[in-house]
Amino acid sequence: MTKTLISASEVTDLVKEWRRKGDTIALVPTMGALHDGHLDLIRQAKSLANRVLVSIFVNPTQFGPNEDFALYPRTMADDMAKLTALGVDGVFSPTANEMYPQDFQTWVSNDHLSLELCGKTRPGHFRGVCTVVMKLFQIVQPTVAIFGKKDYQQLMIIKRMVADLCLPVEVVGCETIREEDGLAMSSRNRRLDSAQRAQASAIFQALSAAAAQVRASNLKVDSLLGSFHAALAAKDLLQVEYAEIRTIHNLMPVLDQIKDDSVLLTAVKAGSVRLIDNMELRI
Ligand code: AMP
Repeated sequence: MTKTLISASEVTDLVKEWRRKGDTIALVPTMGALHDGHLDLIRQAKSLANRVLVSIFVNPTQFGPNEDFALYPRTMADDMAKLTALGVDGVFSPTANEMYPQDFQTWVSNDHLSLELCGKTRPGHFRGVCTVVMKLFQIVQPTVAIFGKKDYQQLMIIKRMVADLCLPVEVVGCETIREEDGLAMSSRNRRLDSAQRAQASAIFQALSAAAAQVRASNLKVDSLLGSFHAALAAKDLLQVEYAEIRTIHNLMPVLDQIKDDSVLLTAVKAGSVRLIDNMELRI
C-alpha cells in the first residue's frame, strides 16, 4: 500500500523500519504534476532498490520572486493515483512550513556551476534545489536517488554536492522522456497554449540537428550554435534564453571545436513559460 507522509518524522520512522528489515531505499524527488518522465524515474527506482519513496514538494526556495511558483501545476489526487498504480511504497508530501520553519537559516549552495547556464537568469535557484535535496537526503537516507537528465545542470550540481559533502547516496541519472513530437515532457508543458505547443517541438528538432551535424563531423561550436539559433529564430513564439555546448563530465564550456563527447543545453521561453532541454553530442 502507498503511504502518504506529511511530516519528516513520519518518514524517518518508516525508513528506519525498512532499514531494520534490510531493505534498500530509492528516493525520487519531484514537484508533482506527474507525467511519464517522472513515472520512468520511478520504474528505474523500483529496479534499483526494494523500497521506493517519492517526494512531491513544490519547493518555494528554488523559485525567484518573478517566477511561476503560484502558477506551478498542483495535481495531488491525480499524482497519488499514478503512484498507487505503480506500487510506490511511500509519498512524502510536506508542507512548506515543515521544510522551512520560521527560524530556518541554513543553506547548501554550490559556488561555481550554479552561477552558469540556468543560474544566470535564476539567481538562487540551485541554492534552493541543493538545500531541499540535502534535506530530503537527510530525512530519507536513501541508498540511491534518481534524477532526470532533462535537468542536466541540476543532475551535475547534485552529483557535485554528493561528492563534495561525502553524502552516502548513489545518484543515478535517467534519460529524458519525450512527447511523440520530441518535446521533453515537463509539468510546465501544460501551461503552453496550442500555438506555443505546436512550435515547441522545434527545440528537439534543433537539438537533434546539432547531434546529427556532430555525427557528420561538423565539430565547430559557432556553426552548430548558429544553426540552432537560426532554426529557433524561425519560430516567432519562441525566444532562446541561452544555448551552450559544454563537456559531458563537468559542464565546462567547449570553445571553438568539440573534441570530446559534449552536451548542448538550452533554455527557451514561450511567453512566460520557460522550457529547458538538452542533448548529448556524441562524436
Ligand atoms: P520536477 O518535478 O520537474 O522537479 O522533476 C522531478 C524529476 O523528474 C527531476 O529529476 C527531473 O529531472 C525529472 N524529469 C522531469 N522531466 C523529465 C523527463 N521528461 N524525462 C525524464 N526525467 C524527467
